[in-house]
Amino acid sequence: MSDHYRTWIRDIPDFPKQGILFRDITPLLKNGAVYRDAIQALAAKAQAWEPELVVGPEARGYVVGAPLAVTLGLGFVPVRKPGKLPYKTVSVEYALEYGTDRLEIHEDAIQPGQRVLLADDLLATGGTMRATKDLVEKLGGVVVGAAFLIELKPLGGRDRLGDIPVYTLVQFD
Ligand code: 5GP
Repeated sequence: MSDHYRTWIRDIPDFPKQGILFRDITPLLKNGAVYRDAIQALAAKAQAWEPELVVGPEARGYVVGAPLAVTLGLGFVPVRKPGKLPYKTVSVEYALEYGTDRLEIHEDAIQPGQRVLLADDLLATGGTMRATKDLVEKLGGVVVGAAFLIELKPLGGRDRLGDIPVYTLVQFD
């Protein structure tokens, strides 16, 4: 099944910069049946973790997290880059290849003890999702698992997420 989804992911060499092989999910997204099946496959797995809320980082985390939330009958909470959320926020800083970046979440987005499913399109180094997890935990949420369309295995993102279950539809070695 992983091979089926793989055919809907396009490789773009040297994007966004020289030497990076970008995995482009827009072919998958524009095929209604494949997009629906991919979300349903993630939902079927994540349901067992009994989440109460889905949290995803901008921007491609929304095209996975929001339909996943709707499929599971749950709410969705956006995590954003600094200065984008209108209400009071909490934030975390995280390391990039060069320098640091920051992500924010509304301070009232999660109830203490609420069971949270994390979602994004792709797991690479895990830095983005680790920061998202830290935000959820800062608000007292309990991260029960993380779901992605794609995993770039050699980058070892799973290891940065601790011992939560991680499910990915397509893996690249
Ligand atoms: P990480 O923080 O795990 O190193 O990188 C994952 C984040 O960067 C995700 O939010 C994802 O959207 C974005 N990203 C990094 N590389 C790619 C790529 O090759 N394809 C896509 N679609 N997103 C990527």
